[in-house]
Amino acid sequence: MKVIVVGAGIGGLSLAALLGKRGHDVTVIEKNEQPGGRARVWEKDGFVFDMGPSWYLMPEIFDHYFEHFGKKTEDFYELIRLNPSYRIFFPDSTLDISADLEENMELFNQLEENGAEKLRKYLDQAQEKYEYLLDGLMYEDLSGILSMLNPKLMAAGWKLSILSNIDKLTKKYFDSERARKILQYSIVFLGGNPKNTPALYSMISHIDFNLGVWYPYGGLGKIVDATFGLAKQYGVDLRFGEEVEDIVIEDKVAKRVITDKGEYEGDIVVSNADYPHSEIDLVDEDYETYSQDYWESKIIAPSAFVLYLGLDKKVDALTHHNVILDHDWVKHFEQIFKEPSWPDEPAYYLCCPSKKDDTVAPEGKENIFVTIPISPGIEDTPEIREAYFDKIVAHMEKVLDTDIKNHVIVKRIFSLNDFADDYNAYKGTAVGLTHTFSQSAFFRPRHKSKKVKNLYYSGQYTHPGIGVPMVLISAEIVADLIEEDYGE
Ligand SMILES: Cc1cc2nc3c(=O)[nH]c(=O)nc-3n(C[C@H](O)[C@H](O)[C@H](O)COP(=O)(O)OP(=O)(O)OC[C@H]3O[C@@H](n4cnc5c(N)ncnc54)[C@H](O)[C@@H]3O)c2cc1C
Repeated sequence: MKVIVVGAGIGGLSLAALLGKRGHDVTVIEKNEQPGGRARVWEKDGFVFDMGPSWYLMPEIFDHYFEHFGKKTEDFYELIRLNPSYRIFFPDSTLDISADLEENMELFNQLEENGAEKLRKYLDQAQEKYEYLLDGLMYEDLSGILSMLNPKLMAAGWKLSILSNIDKLTKKYFDSERARKILQYSIVFLGGNPKNTPALYSMISHIDFNLGVWYPYGGLGKIVDATFGLAKQYGVDLRFGEEVEDIVIEDKVAKRVITDKGEYEGDIVVSNADYPHSEIDLVDEDYETYSQDYWESKIIAPSAFVLYLGLDKKVDALTHHNVILDHDWVKHFEQIFKEPSWPDEPAYYLCCPSKKDDTVAPEGKENIFVTIPISPGIEDTPEIREAYFDKIVAHMEKVLDTDIKNHVIVKRIFSLNDFADDYNAYKGTAVGLTHTFSQSAFFRPRHKSKKVKNLYYSGQYTHPGIGVPMVLISAEIVADLIEEDYGE
């Protein structure tokens, strides 16, 4: 079959490689000049920046993906387990989450009475949820069983406590504010806040405390290299710097794709581009599975204010992953989800891969990547960005107790308008659709169009959702759907 894939994010590349391996004739069309989408790499003056993902979690999902090609993860890159997994800067203390669970138990005992026992119980329930999902639901296309009366759905709902949220769950287990925050922080990966993220995602604590935080030596760009390399190896035709403008549908069948450079006929079309863009801009209104009103009614995940900084010195206070929780984050979440505005006192994340990897910065220098979630759709101008840059750097100097501003030798700001321009991201979102109850699992947008026979969607908007491992799973699901519909 001739398959056209719109977009060379990890979702598009990983799917194209699978389809190429299964004997399809695949063309990938990407608007940017580079592969990887949000996970692409930016290099400048000896610094190598991962532009998006920096946490490598759930290594077994990568192993599972590479197995389709008879390969192992180590055939593509060297994985290092980080220790500490990450460092959290609270206003009055700095804590390390260790790769050693016993050390974390001791830490929780210091945070509150019986902290270790409470952590053990919390992680047990997190592990149970993770294993239940991985065994039964993670790799399945769930759109076919969307009925509240479906026994499978009801059993899953009960098991996964989908009606509770992370805020309630952590309050049930822990009294200490710091203990709760440690366990709540990681749900920021899902584009939500502790109150709107279902308790089932406490499984992320099992992922980071038990399965570990890893790093592919050379950076997360190694995942892009791996999927891009596999796609090329299996004969995929990859076209860069070419934007898809229209998916032409006749009589409920996608016939061809029109780009700013030409036309491509196909038997099957898959869009890995942002789902709202794919539907609103590329597909005729009559053939949209979800209307513009649908997207308007959804909780769109935050955009981000991202800084790529090359420093001409080392910063001793940092480890590889650092979370700055110097302010109460309630107001920050309100300024994302309730009263959209630039956060006055943000909580933020700071990655310093040059601590463990001497290929990402020149010797004696530091590669720093800062991410601050901001509301999608707010005003983003060069003046706002520069003022915000000054504010954040001044705050970093206070928390890290060192001069930063005078040591910046490489600087790039990437924010809301860049997400919109570079990736056609709806409202400039960084990661798509927040994982609330009604936007997760069975309720996430479908992998297969409801109205067009041969049109599919892959990537972070679809089940299982946001994050590189999830996007690899979505590629596996779509490849299997295509196989079910058309054979290999
Ligand atoms: C700042 C940031 C930090 C993150 N941190 C982590 C992390 O630590 N760990 C983790 O696992 N995940 C992380 N993520 C999430 C992860 O990066 C994404 O979930 C994943 O990369 C999304 O992949 P995708 O293929 O679905 O989408 P994308 O990467 O967006 O790919 C879609 C592609 O489609 C292209 N496209 C769009 N419109 C068109 C068109 N009309 N024609 C042609 N091409 C088009 C885009 O240019 C893009 O290349 C992070 C994301 C961001 C932004």
